[in-house]
Amino acid sequence: MGRVYNFSAGPAVLPEEVLRSAAEEMLDYKGTGMSVMEMSHRSKAYEQIITDAETDLRELLGIPDNYKVLFLQGGASQQFAMIPMNLMKNKVADYIITGQWAKKAAQEAEKYGKVNRIASSEDQTYSYIPDCSDLPVSEDADYVYICENNTIYGTKYKELPNTKGKLLVADVSSCFLSEPMDVTKYGIVYGGVQKNIGPAGTVIVIIREDLITDDVLPGTPTMLTYKIHADAKSLYNTPPAYGIYICGKVFKWLKEMGGLEVMKAHNEKKAKLLYDFLDQSRLFKGTVVPKDRSLMNVPFVTGDADLDAKFVKESKAAGLENLKGHRTVGGMRASIYNAMPYEGVEALVAFMKKFEEENL
Ligand SMILES: *Cc1c(COP(=O)(O)O)cnc(C)c1O
Repeated sequence: MGRVYNFSAGPAVLPEEVLRSAAEEMLDYKGTGMSVMEMSHRSKAYEQIITDAETDLRELLGIPDNYKVLFLQGGASQQFAMIPMNLMKNKVADYIITGQWAKKAAQEAEKYGKVNRIASSEDQTYSYIPDCSDLPVSEDADYVYICENNTIYGTKYKELPNTKGKLLVADVSSCFLSEPMDVTKYGIVYGGVQKNIGPAGTVIVIIREDLITDDVLPGTPTMLTYKIHADAKSLYNTPPAYGIYICGKVFKWLKEMGGLEVMKAHNEKKAKLLYDFLDQSRLFKGTVVPKDRSLMNVPFVTGDADLDAKFVKESKAAGLENLKGHRTVGGMRASIYNAMPYEGVEALVAFMKKFEEENL
């Protein structure tokens, strides 16, 4: 049985080389006689795995020394609470609402303080990124929050908001390591890894050192305190050990591919193929304002729900999996993360051409 082209938004496609290598090491990791899954997280072998993972991630992103890297649990959604609990000293934060994930993060933060929604693209079903050059940033805001790549709607910030000196916090779950980024522009950058890096259950948090303090909101659980995890180098309790191991393999794979500049070029080439097709198609239409298009998540529609359903069904039969759009928006969505080969996008476009000829 062969592998399909998996266009899922997450959990998503991983590099085949990484899966093969993990399979080879499954029963006996480097002569330890056990799987990484069976190993103490305090063993020498595991210490090497987590240290290498951090070192390689730091190298890939050029993370400065005054930022800590944390490998935590609870997925991206747990950060929706952890961020306000640790950062809301004035109990005020500004949120820019560009889709479901930003909306959920804002709702969660509201449990801990005042949330100002300083911009939103809800009026146009989140099909664009609002102009963020001169927003009414709150005087006393502890931070400004964005979801940098909107997995469901397929938009991406091409320019970061002008936060007028306030701390920027970003959810980069679905664009993590898809291109280089300047970590120094953020107070916190975080992402669930199941979109572009590894198996679900691990979240990576890159946080500026001065934000890691004991001064958290009263009642903050130990497990939701950044300082606890930073002091223990992500080993306060048992970390998502196997997930971190796979993330580490993906970091090595990215380095072998040539790093994030190369990945960016590769991702641009894939996205261009699909967007160029959409722009000239007489049947399919992209749903996002062109200047705000994501390189990772590409939503599109035919304009006819029955035809959309037919497309999803027939594409699956052709080995193109998980092209159905998010349940809240319908239509189709192709997620073309780092590990999706160019050939996968070629196969998708060829299938779309054929479908268009048969159904126009
Ligand atoms: C998937 C996703 C989430 C939620 O991730 P979980 O790990 O399931 O909590 C949050 N933000 C973005 C941008 C996502 O794509």
